[in-house]
Amino acid sequence: MLIIEPIKAFDDNYIWLMTKNNKSVVVDPGDATEIIKLIDNQAINLEGVLITHHHYDHTNGLSELIEKKNLKVFGPKNNISEINNIVGDSDQFDLIGIHFEVLEIPGHTLDHIAFYTFNNGNPVLLCGDTLFAGGCGRVFEGTFSQMFNSLQKLCTLPETTEVYCGHEYTNSNLLFALEADPNNKDLKDEYNQVINLIEQGEPTLPTTISKELKINPFLRCNSEGIKNTIKNKFNLEGNEEETFSALRKWKDNF
Ligand SMILES: [Zn+2]
Repeated sequence: MLIIEPIKAFDDNYIWLMTKNNKSVVVDPGDATEIIKLIDNQAINLEGVLITHHHYDHTNGLSELIEKKNLKVFGPKNNISEINNIVGDSDQFDLIGIHFEVLEIPGHTLDHIAFYTFNNGNPVLLCGDTLFAGGCGRVFEGTFSQMFNSLQKLCTLPETTEVYCGHEYTNSNLLFALEADPNNKDLKDEYNQVINLIEQGEPTLPTTISKELKINPFLRCNSEGIKNTIKNKFNLEGNEEETFSALRKWKDNF
């Protein structure tokens, strides 16, 4: 049995702690403070780290963790010297008895990857800052086309896939989604559920691919709802990818 729990960092980052048979892995440790506490209290036996991309809020805790313990660090080829197992598209590896597959998903950054695995037969995705609940990451280094294709690639995963994202952005994402897709009933229902979770101080993650296909405007650029909004707002009647680019640029200034 694999257990996946959030460790909060900074304002809205999630460091995902994955534990199986009393061995643990952390994903995107932007800050080491809470993880070191868990190690010192012998609450976890940390063996490895997964890195989705080079941004400091996903990697800044690495040097402190490596000073503390000898760790296997899997991540993409980039400027982060602590990554001692560089992985790329379709690579597979085992860590604490979990089998992972790597998906390259550039756009937010050029080095961005996701990790795909199974928990008791159920698919699990750790996707950093590419796909969020109700939204997607900003396009910082790649092109809009790369980001569009990376999101499309994630949509080909089984609909039951549980998606663990790098930030708690769901509330603001859904407020934008409601502007972009105002007649989407699933979206309105989801917003009410998310508000309840947030009021109770609960994470709104993981989400699933099937839910995102119903509510996430960035995965719905072929829908009449999103196409109509973009047409009315920007006088643009483009293809799915052009609609996506317009939507992403709008969100940047929302
Ligand atoms: Zn990032």
